[in-house]
Amino acid sequence: MHLNRRALIMSSAAGAAASFTLGRIDIAQAQTSSGASSMAMAGSGEQLPGAYRYRLGDFTVTQITDGMAARPLDAGFVVNAELEDVQGALQEAFLPPDKLFIPFTPLTLRSGDELVLFDTGFGESGPPTAGQLARGMAAAGIDPAAVSCVVISHFHPDHILGLTTKAGEPIYPNAEVMVPEPEYAFWMSDDNKANAPEGRRGNFDMAQKIFGALGERVSQFKWDAEVMPGVTAIDAHGHTPGHTVFAIESGDERLMFLADTTNHPALFVRHPDWAAVFDQDAEAARQTRRRLLDMAAEERMRVAGYHFPFPATGHIAKDGEGYRFVPAQWMPVLDGQA
Ligand SMILES: [Zn+2]
Repeated sequence: MHLNRRALIMSSAAGAAASFTLGRIDIAQAQTSSGASSMAMAGSGEQLPGAYRYRLGDFTVTQITDGMAARPLDAGFVVNAELEDVQGALQEAFLPPDKLFIPFTPLTLRSGDELVLFDTGFGESGPPTAGQLARGMAAAGIDPAAVSCVVISHFHPDHILGLTTKAGEPIYPNAEVMVPEPEYAFWMSDDNKANAPEGRRGNFDMAQKIFGALGERVSQFKWDAEVMPGVTAIDAHGHTPGHTVFAIESGDERLMFLADTTNHPALFVRHPDWAAVFDQDAEAARQTRRRLLDMAAEERMRVAGYHFPFPATGHIAKDGEGYRFVPAQWMPVLDGQA
């Protein structure tokens, strides 16, 4: 926010004073890269498209940002910790203590002729700072029509709204949509909807609308099944009843797509017993988080976290009672370096 405001001020002041600030550098770069439209982008606070690619055995993985959403940090966000402690954890991570910026990071996996997208972001229906996946895919040279399969971790809006346009048309016209069987069973049930707390009913309506519109394109998979060669669905329930993570394996390289096993790592990787307001069954989510973070740390697996800071991939290390997220280093795309 601070930088954006500065960039605006600098651009309206015609940049006469050549002061050496980050805002000034942003504008100078925008002007040299692609002219006036980029300059407007810098002024509007929009980030550049974000995509980061790496090899995983025979697979190519591309992490693509869908943007982020900011929410004020109130006492209700972490339901079982003191606000003061939560603010302390953010400060320890050099993040603002009064506001939480939650990133969204789908990824694609290319394997031979298959191009698989894991979770979709918000599409046309999210907050103004999200819905960036299409832009990131374009920057990465990925055509939505080339996506052969979309794999969904769970049915929260930031993971499925981008399956269809507002009008209900599929955004990935040639893709099969694969969803976890227990997640589908939960959200498509009118009985569950009737018994749900008021605040959760909208999520049922949204899921039923989207998967109703997709109809025959949708197929379901079970936990422990291979959704495609090298990709295994793992029970990660708690966040939602059918929340699923994916172990992705090629050669001796392994990646775990953690989906929403944790929300922001500065809070929930550091403090795996803390529960975010989004966890439907907080105790089950806590146990899942401990089990999967432990596995990732023990086995030194690469991880990708949907709500981790972009490019949202790296490793998990044990640290005291909790864990630490160690971001991957930016690398050229080379075999054997995933
Ligand atoms: Zn999420």
